[in-house]
Amino acid sequence: MVASRSARERKAAVEAGPLAKVKIDLGGEQQFLYKISCTTCTTKGDKPWSTHRQGDDGFMAAMDRWTFHLVEKHPGAEAPCLTYLEAAQQRLHERREGAGD
Ligand SMILES: [Zn+2]
Repeated sequence: MVASRSARERKAAVEAGPLAKVKIDLGGEQQFLYKISCTTCTTKGDKPWSTHRQGDDGFMAAMDRWTFHLVEKHPGAEAPCLTYLEAAQQRLHERREGAGD
């Protein structure tokens, strides 16, 4: 369990690129909790910008959120996850449609 978690963590860190710090914890019901924080951005209150998502699609959801952060705040930054920007936007669109009514 621990080994697979750190392996996932490394894989996610590679995808997220050099500006990200990736952490995977065990959340409720033994689900993975994916946390991606930005090494350069802070929010109000001086905390690092971060996103967390839990569950089976938590990795993808957190990575999508991070991808949007990169595009918005770090134009020109390079990260493997940016390859999937179009797919991430599509998923966001679908989620919004689904949550619409
Ligand atoms: Zn940032």
